Amino acid sequence: MNAEIIAVGSELLLGQIDNTNASYLSTRLADIGINVYFHQAVGDNQDRIQEALKNASSRSDAVIITGGLGPTQDDVTREACGAFLGLDVILDNGAEAHVRQYFEQSGREVTEANLKQANTLEGAEVFPNDNGLACGTAVEKDGVYYVLLPGPPKEMKRMADSYALPYLAAKRPEEAVITSRLLRFYAIGESSLAEKLESILSRQSNPTIAPLAQEGEVMLRLTARSSSGEENIRLLDAAAEEILEKAGDYCYGEGEEELDERTAALMRELNLSVSAAESLTGGAFADRMTTFAGASMIFPGGVVCYGNEAKMNAVGVSEETLKNDGAVSRACAVEMAEGAKERFGSDYGISFTGAAGPDPLEGYEPGEMFIGFAGPDFSTAEFVRVGGSRSSIRMQAVKRGLYMLYN
Ligand code: ATP
Ligand code: MG
Repeated sequence: MNAEIIAVGSELLLGQIDNTNASYLSTRLADIGINVYFHQAVGDNQDRIQEALKNASSRSDAVIITGGLGPTQDDVTREACGAFLGLDVILDNGAEAHVRQYFEQSGREVTEANLKQANTLEGAEVFPNDNGLACGTAVEKDGVYYVLLPGPPKEMKRMADSYALPYLAAKRPEEAVITSRLLRFYAIGESSLAEKLESILSRQSNPTIAPLAQEGEVMLRLTARSSSGEENIRLLDAAAEEILEKAGDYCYGEGEEELDERTAALMRELNLSVSAAESLTGGAFADRMTTFAGASMIFPGGVVCYGNEAKMNAVGVSEETLKNDGAVSRACAVEMAEGAKERFGSDYGISFTGAAGPDPLEGYEPGEMFIGFAGPDFSTAEFVRVGGSRSSIRMQAVKRGLYMLYN
């Protein structure tokens, strides 16, 4: 089943509000394995809504329309749908009682316009509105499902979760079971990953594979649909195996566990500790490491040594190194990492020194850095280049450090 979302509202076209209804519905539909192929936005205009419906009905199995179910003159979605589908707009008794009760309770007269919100389409299923007045409507016509939801996000979300999504899910019982798996990647961009997986992605259907890039990480959500959970797991395992064969080097984990959590868990398992000397990241690594309960086991401490004096005094970087190689250098990063490790008596030491921007530093462009790493019997530093704003560069540096640690 593939779905299309039509958001009705002139304010969307004027740029006055963002179409958050479409993003919410897309996410939730993906969760239950329904592909969304199109989004449309259209003003509060009967003819144009009908035109949008015409396009949608020609290419989608389910059409979800939000907005324009309210009491005012400009709310014409129901009427447009009725006209398009050749169905009468009728008053629903249950929805009418709901509207009347609301007005009675608030001591106001119910008007004709308010009762409009209890209207639905002939032969349709009616969804109650638990957060407002306008009822929702779902109807099938010529093999296409039409679902009408109110525009206010709070009302729309509640109705979608409680009624509309279960309604759609139930319409394809032959593939009622949905199972998904999330693979997490790091140190590879979304486009490079897509390139590596080109042959797999181009013939994806079941499971579907949806990439998502976030905070320097890339995730792949695999969603399988079939008549049984076992069959889904078989489909997912086969697809995951194929993906990992091509890009397994970059995969660090699965599920909701993020890179920092994964790293911290691994360190706890192995009973290892790390301490930090931070210039570029200004304490951001320490901040990240101390967000976990029981952090002291894996992170005894760190220092922020932004200036050269501090690099010498706090972690013992030599004056010679600073003079000959500079603060942004492989040698300085190594000495910082070694110094942190010694000072705190940890198993590993990590360090960050580089140009956070906006200006270049010691000949290095913003985003260029050295991450030092000292272990029980080795010291090394990696040159890393990332893009973005000052805060994004720092955040990415921390992530890269965590990734080095994880490896
Ligand atoms: P109402 O009873 O409030 O008139 P309605 O079903 O007629 O509800 P609209 O009039 O289209 O819906 O929208 C009501 C409000 O809901 C808008 O002012 C806007 O704030 C919000 N809204 C509508 N559509 C969207 C959308 N696609 N994304 C986010 N917010 C929306
Ligand atoms: Mg309205």
